[in-house]
Amino acid sequence: MKKRILVTGGAGFIGSHLCKRLLNEGNEVICMDNYFTGSKSNIVDLLDNPYFELVRHDVTHPYFAEVDQIYNMACPASPVHYQYNPIKTVKTSVMGAINMLGLAKRVKARVLQASTSEVYGDPHVHPQPESYWGNVNPIGLRSCYDEGKRCAETLFMDYHTSNKVDIRIIRIFNTYGPNMNPDDGRVVSNFIVQALKGEDITIYGDGTQTRSFQYVDDLVEGTIRMMNTDNFIGPVNLGNPNEFTMLELAENIIELTGTKSKIIHLPLPKDDPKQRRPDISLAKEKLGGWEPNIQLKEGLTKTIEYFSKVI
Ligand code: NAD
Ligand code: UDP
Repeated sequence: MKKRILVTGGAGFIGSHLCKRLLNEGNEVICMDNYFTGSKSNIVDLLDNPYFELVRHDVTHPYFAEVDQIYNMACPASPVHYQYNPIKTVKTSVMGAINMLGLAKRVKARVLQASTSEVYGDPHVHPQPESYWGNVNPIGLRSCYDEGKRCAETLFMDYHTSNKVDIRIIRIFNTYGPNMNPDDGRVVSNFIVQALKGEDITIYGDGTQTRSFQYVDDLVEGTIRMMNTDNFIGPVNLGNPNEFTMLELAENIIELTGTKSKIIHLPLPKDDPKQRRPDISLAKEKLGGWEPNIQLKEGLTKTIEYFSKVI
């Protein structure tokens, strides 16, 4: 059945893929964005669709629309961008959550929060199951994002418990793919852009820190399944459990692009997590056997193809 769906942060990297998929499935989509890190170019192909509506709006201000579902994706996700104005980042997560929960309460919509593996901080438990409470510095460089997202989870749970709002929480692990901003600053886009331009590939620290990289299509599939699953509110991890060091990631990108770029090492940012890998058993069990299908080399190849066109 056709639904009216609000996607906040819809002009961003993940939001744009989500809007496209939801429209393709026959829904009406309102895409709300303030274009802080997102871009109209990500959704320009959708503008001809009469069931697509684009709204310039900041999620820290209340917003009203009659909708059935809300995907709350609005928030800068790259450390460079969320640290640019840390107070605004906290406001976006916390006031954005309050505004979207208030809207969901009023119109009786189901609302899904894009939370993050950052709620686990620099984890002492590896891989990370949803039951792990995390190891987060409350006053560090990453706190505006990590604690903002943790507080948003708290708000989602409390609106659910106190006001019976129909919520879903997903914890997204490092996700990459087409429509990432070339200046995004996250590792996959940085390395690919550097490789394609023949510039030095900048590994922060010794490159032994790990991340688990998920291709965006796998995330979108898991996210939509979570939104449409009954009797399970999460939080649920959505990520690819294959774990790589940043050195391995750089080597893969060097091989796939055939670049002559050299690896250089820059200082490791403070509080940079040493390891990250999702335990996805809960997602598999609750989301109809969901698991990532696209592995690193295939996903990187598609992403390299995209960046070759846009830079
Ligand atoms: P992104 O920066 O490409 O997208 C975020 C979008 O939100 C942008 O279009 C931006 O302009 C918009 N936005 C920011 N602040 C806003 C505000 N105050 N009002 C309205 N719009 C605002 O990042 P992304 O990777 O697509 O991330 C989307 C969501 O997923 C974010 O909430 C992020 O925290 C979460 N997430 C992403 C990852 C990942 O690896 N990509 C991992 C964990 C969580
Ligand atoms: N990183 C890097 N070079 C870059 C950008 C990032 O080595 O040009 C490292 C960063 O220090 C971190 C990892 O890559 O250890 C992932 O960083 P990203 O900003 O993509 O995401 P997050 O740290 O939030 O997982």
